[in-house]
Amino acid sequence: MELNSNEPTGPLEDRWTKHRDHGKLVNPANRRKYTVIVVGSGLAGGAGAASLGELGYNVKCFAFQDSPRRAHSIAAQGGINAAKNYQSDGDSVWRLFHDTLKGGDFRGRESNTWRLAEISNAIIDQCVAQGVPFAREYGGLLANRSFGGAQVSRTFYARGQTGQQLLIGAYQALERQIGAGTVEMHTRSEMLELIVVDGVARGIVTRSLITGKIEAHVADCVVLATGGYANVFYLSTNAKGSNCTAAWRAHRQGAAFANPCYTQIHPTCIPQAGEHQSKLTLMSESLRNDGRIWVPRKKEDVTKAPGSIPEKDRFYYLEERYPTFGNLVPRDVASRNAKYVCDDGLGVGPEVAGQRRGVYLDFAASISRLGKKEVEDRYGNLFEMYERITGENPYQVPMRIYPASHYAMGGLWVDYNLMTTIPGLFAAGEANFSDHGANRLGASALMQGLSDGYFVLPFTVGNYLGTVRDLPEVRLDHADVKGAVERVENRIHRLLNAPKPSKTADEFHRELGALIWDKCGMARNEAGLKEALAKIPEIRERFWEQVKVPGTGEAFNQTLERAGRVADFMEFAELLSIDALNRDESCGAHFREEHQSEEGEAVRDDEHFQHVSAWEFTGDLGKPKLHKEPLVFERLKPSTRSYK
Ligand SMILES: Cc1cc2nc3c(=O)[nH]c(=O)nc-3n(C[C@H](O)[C@H](O)[C@H](O)COP(=O)(O)OP(=O)(O)OC[C@H]3O[C@@H](n4cnc5c(N)ncnc54)[C@H](O)[C@@H]3O)c2cc1C
Repeated sequence: MELNSNEPTGPLEDRWTKHRDHGKLVNPANRRKYTVIVVGSGLAGGAGAASLGELGYNVKCFAFQDSPRRAHSIAAQGGINAAKNYQSDGDSVWRLFHDTLKGGDFRGRESNTWRLAEISNAIIDQCVAQGVPFAREYGGLLANRSFGGAQVSRTFYARGQTGQQLLIGAYQALERQIGAGTVEMHTRSEMLELIVVDGVARGIVTRSLITGKIEAHVADCVVLATGGYANVFYLSTNAKGSNCTAAWRAHRQGAAFANPCYTQIHPTCIPQAGEHQSKLTLMSESLRNDGRIWVPRKKEDVTKAPGSIPEKDRFYYLEERYPTFGNLVPRDVASRNAKYVCDDGLGVGPEVAGQRRGVYLDFAASISRLGKKEVEDRYGNLFEMYERITGENPYQVPMRIYPASHYAMGGLWVDYNLMTTIPGLFAAGEANFSDHGANRLGASALMQGLSDGYFVLPFTVGNYLGTVRDLPEVRLDHADVKGAVERVENRIHRLLNAPKPSKTADEFHRELGALIWDKCGMARNEAGLKEALAKIPEIRERFWEQVKVPGTGEAFNQTLERAGRVADFMEFAELLSIDALNRDESCGAHFREEHQSEEGEAVRDDEHFQHVSAWEFTGDLGKPKLHKEPLVFERLKPSTRSYK
């Protein structure tokens, strides 16, 4: 396996233009001769499928939900970044590039990060043209708010429903193509295998989640836009259905998996209320614009009503420790600091498993400065959601928040064209590793998904097809197609026929998630990771022996669906921990306790780890092969992140 980033050379700001100027095109009349499979209809897949359909390719789009509109992207609340500089506060493409690369702790690829910043403005134009109802200033210009890791306001938003509104835009574009006949939409279809013929991705195998029918679909190339793997932790802010199956199946067929240990823990989630909870809820990071984070200074105050604790006894720990960025430090920094104060016994809220894991996010000062109406206009639906879940009114008492697993910066390794190490297989959106390094800044995932879908794939897929031109026909009776179908059938048979069926897949997932959260979550160390690596194969073995899946494979069977996804998390978790152990440095969200400054900040080791870790599947889950893509910084020299 060889990693070639295929980045264009020359000045950073010219690379994307140069790449498009010199890439191969497919003649409009020839596009309909090519079939492109897009798995996923969230922001990345929906935008990609719609744009490729509009170009005239014959697109087949797959999603496991009953409608593209139910993709996890719909959950995104806070906003989407772009360097429009409407606020005249000094923003620019360069600054967005700078903040993203620095925010990712210099573990991202410079060319990709620049391209993302460059494309950001076109995304907003495209979405506005579609009618996405972004918030506006009184004068009519689009409004912006601030997110962590930036000193400018560049986040475009639609109240707390930005993902939903953007997805409606992409969905409309997709529906238009479905109506025009260029996109064939397959909902309730789950990809369970990748078809690789002569080393080239040529299709997928799906299972209908309604009838259980297993089908092979062949194409000229395949795009995976299947989202992230944050649910490996079991408890996360992701939709319950989000999973790593498509990416993991591709990995097993030869696609390198990059930086799996880069997982983002979001600082502002509603804390876990009990040990049997199965889902966590995000409170948008945008709340940190106006909410002040604090805990009591004294342990004896943690059970007192927050309103009864005087100002002098409140510890505004982010404002004190990071005076420049205050409550707007990046997510990894905010999360770790919440952990530290709770580990010090200053956490608030109910005790779960012997600890109070909560800090206050307080709007009292904003309400008295701006008025309740203004706060309601900005965050009304988030406040309502919080009250519905906790029964507490955040206009009257501070919210309680705590970090939770939220996003995956790691993913399938892709080159500048978003192509994986399997020719003909592309990965877009959260499913790839490409643009955020070791820590993603808030509001940058939507930007990346739409950049990949609306602007990058339409060119790079054409460039690939224009280069390979006439691919040999693959028929459904081809040995490699039949082999992929058989692998799916065998696996389903195994899931349905465990020798000692006694526990649900969810029980195993909960056990795995608790282990990974504990040993490979917000903080990691060598001993804990080794412990996790010893336990994961043992949990996996028990899973295959004891998993209980009632019913059959030939019908609607949600337990079977879940069991298949958990089985893949069982394998993936091992790679995640191997990567975390191998990366013997701290960077961004990957915090190795052995490598921290006296003040508890991440300490990178650029000499040994300034690279992307891309893992190749060898057939032995415990012994994947590491490939390194060196990271070269021409424009922005790596520095120690400081938000003080
Ligand atoms: C609560 C929450 C709030 C967020 N808020 C923000 C925000 O304000 N700003 C921001 O920038 N980011 C935010 N994010 C992150 C952002 O929402 C996601 O990173 C982004 O939406 C992912 O988009 P995607 O298109 O890559 O994947 P998804 O939206 O997850 O879509 C995945 C698609 O793949 C399909 N799929 C998956 N596996 C299979 C399979 N095996 N077979 C068939 N189909 C499959 C699914 O059906 C779905 O259509 C938030 C995340 C969460 C959890």
